[in-house]
Amino acid sequence: MDDLKRQLVEWRHALHRIPEAGNHEVETAAFVARELRAMGIEVTEGVGGTGVVGTLSAGAGSRAIGLRADMDAIPISETRVCDYSSTHDGMMHACGHDGHMAMLLGAAKILSEAKDFNGTVRFIFQPDEETGHGAMNMLADGLLDRFPMDEIYGAHNMPFAPEGTIAMKTGGIMASEDNFTITIKGEGGHAAQPHKTKDAMVIAGEIILAIQTIVSRNIDPACSSVISLTEITSDGAHNVIPGTVTIKGDTRSLDPVSQKTVEERMRKLCEGICRVNGAECDFEFTYEFIPTVNDAACMGYAAEAAAKVVGRENVDTAVTAPLTSEDFGRFLREIPGCFVFLGSAKTDDEPPLHSAKYDFNDNILETGAGFFAQIVRDRLK
Ligand SMILES: [Zn+2]
Ligand SMILES: [Zn+2]
Repeated sequence: MDDLKRQLVEWRHALHRIPEAGNHEVETAAFVARELRAMGIEVTEGVGGTGVVGTLSAGAGSRAIGLRADMDAIPISETRVCDYSSTHDGMMHACGHDGHMAMLLGAAKILSEAKDFNGTVRFIFQPDEETGHGAMNMLADGLLDRFPMDEIYGAHNMPFAPEGTIAMKTGGIMASEDNFTITIKGEGGHAAQPHKTKDAMVIAGEIILAIQTIVSRNIDPACSSVISLTEITSDGAHNVIPGTVTIKGDTRSLDPVSQKTVEERMRKLCEGICRVNGAECDFEFTYEFIPTVNDAACMGYAAEAAAKVVGRENVDTAVTAPLTSEDFGRFLREIPGCFVFLGSAKTDDEPPLHSAKYDFNDNILETGAGFFAQIVRDRLK
């Protein structure tokens, strides 16, 4: 193993041992801040909570490129036992953010030693990605005013693609996520006397089926959205027709127009169906993640940098976007950039992200660090 690989693995394993929940990445933030300072990089801590920003300049160039890694872990008990297992009960790095941080430290090491670029790099260690609030908190704390950037790049390890590949696409690469609660307020009564009630259960049935028409009839077939009704509760009993039924669920879209259409159509259908049945409707819709939308030009730059690292034949520029979410989209709404997937599968049967058996593939650490360093060299010539 060469020195860089050894160092990357050491960082990744050290971070894997100390997983912390979103906004509580205290030991993690201290770790990355210490390592960045040891490289002679200027460090600002406490950005948007536990966020850390490292700044490194070389030459006289005035442009700046941001590179981002997420820092949070997940409240899952790790089931794998190894010499770097989680030492924090009930928490583990099940999404590979330990690897993302190690790769970004790796890029910092490569660039701080070589200084073969002309401008400024911002190493952004972002807290609380899993809830979709960390990027927002960093932005609200003045990230872009305090640390101006012209473009930003990020990456996620992906166990559905083989190790040594890098995949991306222009436009929406990861979905929005919004949650909703529909409360139908009818009038309950005796199961034998439905004519004296406004049966909230039957109204719920109409709403559940009507919502199925939104994706099939209102969303452009060339776009992607999904609506899942995931939970239903009522105040009824075996012999009591419910007066109130609550339906909860989750919606996702790859573009902001579809996201808006889903919300508007859901609201109209729920309110309209309740109205014709003489019931009241409370429709609550909360915005969790916005779509992650890649800039076309930046995707081109990312593809070029990726080809230099893994070879053109291992770069996919038209990957099928999963409908999972990622809060990197918050940065991309403010400045152009690109989010890429780093293939990490060693076999055809990898545990999925967020599995209690998940472990970031150390074989791709150099690929990720190399990709981040290359995009900086290419964009800050
Ligand atoms: Zn995750
Ligand atoms: Zn993740």
